Amino acid sequence: MREKKAKRLFGTNGVRGVVGREMTPLLAMRIGAALGRMRKGRIVVGRDTRTSGEALGAALKAGLLAGGCTVLDAGILPTPALQYIVKGRHSAGAVITASHNPPEYNGVKVIEPDGTEMGDEETLVLEELVLDHPMEVVPWPEMGRAYRAPYLVEEYVEGVLSHFSQGVGEGMTVVVDPGSGAGAHCTPEILRRLGCRVLTVNGQMDGRFPGRQPEPSAEGLRPLADMVRANDASFGVAHDGDADRAVFVDEKGNYVEENCEFALILQMICRDRRGIVVTPVSTSLVVEDVARKNGSEVKYTPVGSIYVARSMISLIGTGSKVIMGGEGNGGLIYPEHQFCRDGAMTAAMMVQLLASGESELSSLVGELPVYHMRKGKIPTRKGERIVQSLAAAYSEEQILTVDGVKLIRGRSWALVRPSGTEPLVRVTVESETEEGADSLFREIMQAVDRIQGSP
Ligand code: MG
Repeated sequence: MREKKAKRLFGTNGVRGVVGREMTPLLAMRIGAALGRMRKGRIVVGRDTRTSGEALGAALKAGLLAGGCTVLDAGILPTPALQYIVKGRHSAGAVITASHNPPEYNGVKVIEPDGTEMGDEETLVLEELVLDHPMEVVPWPEMGRAYRAPYLVEEYVEGVLSHFSQGVGEGMTVVVDPGSGAGAHCTPEILRRLGCRVLTVNGQMDGRFPGRQPEPSAEGLRPLADMVRANDASFGVAHDGDADRAVFVDEKGNYVEENCEFALILQMICRDRRGIVVTPVSTSLVVEDVARKNGSEVKYTPVGSIYVARSMISLIGTGSKVIMGGEGNGGLIYPEHQFCRDGAMTAAMMVQLLASGESELSSLVGELPVYHMRKGKIPTRKGERIVQSLAAAYSEEQILTVDGVKLIRGRSWALVRPSGTEPLVRVTVESETEEGADSLFREIMQAVDRIQGSP
């Protein structure tokens, strides 16, 4: 079983917290100084639209500059845009963002020179510099300089466009809901340049997120669905606050479950490629079904996009052909483009999928195998013990211990994993039938209760 060394500041997606409580300008400055010390050179800094972004960004930059780094401030842009810009051309990057969290949150995501998020080992080193070492300030002749670089985002827009043929979206109407977040200037622009007629909902950048929460839930996407129906659009697409995820509504305004979105885009990729699809153990079987049907296979990783990205890179490094990666929450990764979740790229892939006009999105979703999921959480401090006891109890059956314990029983599975941030275990169950999902869910919840109750 995989042991994770506990991180003190960073979660799976960087440092995050309520501004003024866990996340302060002082902390941002110290992260900047620590990052500057680890990855000295030219650092690209960006942010999402949150009201605290400017203050935290200025503090982060101060830390980098005091450490002697050159700072390129790319301004407001999607996280994948900053990752694309950094990849291979700069020493590192940092984005001030809290992704899908409510407006009062903010955080920092650190980007490595290869464009991926910083991994566990390196993050522990960074944390130690932040928490246990005094901040280093270079002598005055070595102080860094900062440059405004809002033009950098165009590199990303052109990078996404380079994967599609010109005019692929001609004749198609699409509606984009960036939720007033960082995707507001990229995705509509990219889809327009693909030839689509583009309408927007919540298209103004606004860190108060007046239209909906940064998390794109079915509830919050009602105005998007209405706009799609009223304008005969082919689909609607919405992003979270930093636009690394994309979720869709079909031409009828129905929310497309994110695992189905993953499966449909995978199906399209499989038209001319076969290989490995990398995804966390929590992803629906619908993705594995589509992969298998198309002569491809699924490789499972721990939950967290960074594990998916790193696993894709290492598989490719050993000569495997990896055709796609992603999470079942609309965070999809395209290896020819870059090794991180990319919301605008996913929106463009949907244009390509529907470009032939042969099928509408709702009918494509309707052709996919149907699965039923159940999710629960149990407050406990015995997470690791529960996982170990379950692995022992079900050792006669097929289990995976990539992250927590996953019991695989034909076309059903159950995953039990301790939360990385809270004292609880998460239980996820999936089955082909409602009854199957209910009964396996009951069985697992009872088994966890028994283990909890035992001395
Ligand atoms: Mg995000």
